[in-house]
Amino acid sequence: MALDDPHVIDRLQTKLLIDGQWVDGVAGTTIAVENPYDGSKIADVAEATAADVDLAVAAAQRAFPAWRALAGHERGRLLLKLADAIEADAANLARLESLDTGHPIRDCLSLDVPRTALCFRYFGGMADKIEGSVIPVDAGFLNYVEREPIGVVGAIVPWNFPLMFTSWKMGPALAAGNTVVIKPSEITPLSTLRIGELMLEVGIPAGVVNIVTGYGHTVGQRIAEHPQVGKVAFTGSTATGRKIVEASAGNLKKVQLELGGKGPNIIFADANIPAAIGGSAFAIFHNQGQACIAGSRLIVHESVVDQVLEQFVALTKSIKLGDPLDPETEMGPLTSRLHQQRVLDYVAVAKAQGAQVLAGGEAPEGAAFAKGCFVEPTIVRAKPGDRVATEEVFGPFVTVLTFKTDEEALAIANETDYGLGAGLWTQDITRAHRFAKQIHAGMVWVNCYKRVHPASPFGGVGMSGYGREMGFEAMREYTQAKSVWINVDAKIPPFYRR
Ligand code: NAD
Repeated sequence: MALDDPHVIDRLQTKLLIDGQWVDGVAGTTIAVENPYDGSKIADVAEATAADVDLAVAAAQRAFPAWRALAGHERGRLLLKLADAIEADAANLARLESLDTGHPIRDCLSLDVPRTALCFRYFGGMADKIEGSVIPVDAGFLNYVEREPIGVVGAIVPWNFPLMFTSWKMGPALAAGNTVVIKPSEITPLSTLRIGELMLEVGIPAGVVNIVTGYGHTVGQRIAEHPQVGKVAFTGSTATGRKIVEASAGNLKKVQLELGGKGPNIIFADANIPAAIGGSAFAIFHNQGQACIAGSRLIVHESVVDQVLEQFVALTKSIKLGDPLDPETEMGPLTSRLHQQRVLDYVAVAKAQGAQVLAGGEAPEGAAFAKGCFVEPTIVRAKPGDRVATEEVFGPFVTVLTFKTDEEALAIANETDYGLGAGLWTQDITRAHRFAKQIHAGMVWVNCYKRVHPASPFGGVGMSGYGREMGFEAMREYTQAKSVWINVDAKIPPFYRR
């Protein structure tokens, strides 16, 4: 495939990847994939069903012994080659991701693609550094612990960052010696298929990665319940996370859940206000707010709220919406029509509870937006306890709340069952550390927001799920401990009777 090929979609594989072959689904049906900018059909991908999952899992099982036996540096070498291939293919991947999701192309080029390559590179480097340990136990015994791969890992990912999430799940899974069956969202399968092509090109062996494009209630459900899948790694909504836990009970497979969030982002009176405003806009409006870690609750000290809102509203109204493929576009459409309506419905919910809409709140008008799933960047001022202050909207929709004291700020921040990301804007280092400790969240950002890196653990607490992606934590998630005892003293009788 040529670089920056405008016809990239025409040449993309749209079948299932099973055992190194691109194949039609057993049922022979397809799923139409739409461009959220203009509603046009951009591809028909094969629709997998439970029978295809069974074939994919069987292929992954067959590939597992050889893949796990490969030296770590050899697995790593293939992942490093994949990272290079992703960088070489950056223009194509960015275009596919932008067409499929509505992400502005400039974000795809500057964030999604480089972060995907970086993640595979990080875990490529990790593949030969998965060390066990020697445990001090009773005299006369050597006890060592090895980290072993689990076997076949099922990966189920959502539509908001489809490309990046392929690397977050497959990077550590493959580095650790597992084989994978991955299901992208039925709404956004294209970049995962391109990653599949690149994996074959760089020589990742047949069956090590299998891609099944299909719906959640069929394909996702079968992966979650499959008796030969040893672990399921899921990113998506809390409601689906619960179903996955239930489905996993049959063989008691390991489950890792990255679920929803309602990120508190607190601006204290002593904050650097311009930095806080720019950072808070990124926190909520990047990727049209379709981010689990979005700073969707802006919690502002009442002494600075007027100043903050005046500038924040002005910045929000200046955000350039448009064609995601236009490099000037700062915000594209939401990823689906259904989701656009869901976000707009929350504006009505907010108004019904007496909230004040300070910016946005509508689908934008004009020919450029007529066919797209757009929602204006929206700021709503509400009270703690309102639905828009507690429920995840998952769109370009921020709820502003105010506080008088630090105790009140903490109480508001923790007034949620979710616990994923949180932001603090303050110059007071003592307060920053105190809040970082007390906030109910898996990740805290101080004077920044939404920083992620493959070396740093990512995940949540409470209704935001359990388990961690990235870093050494991820290697623990994708391996299991085996404890080996050796009797090293001939005088110790190994028998029942001494
Ligand atoms: P979703 O739960 O509807 O779907 C996620 C994936 O699960 C899709 O591939 C879907 O097909 C599949 N699925 C649906 N029903 C299933 C079932 N019964 N069994 C197995 N799989 C099933 O979520 P979504 O709407 O695609 O994504 C948005 C949600 O994801 C938001 O709640 C968001 O916060 C969350 N999210 C979390 C993180 C995180 O890292 N914590 C990151 C991104 C998104």
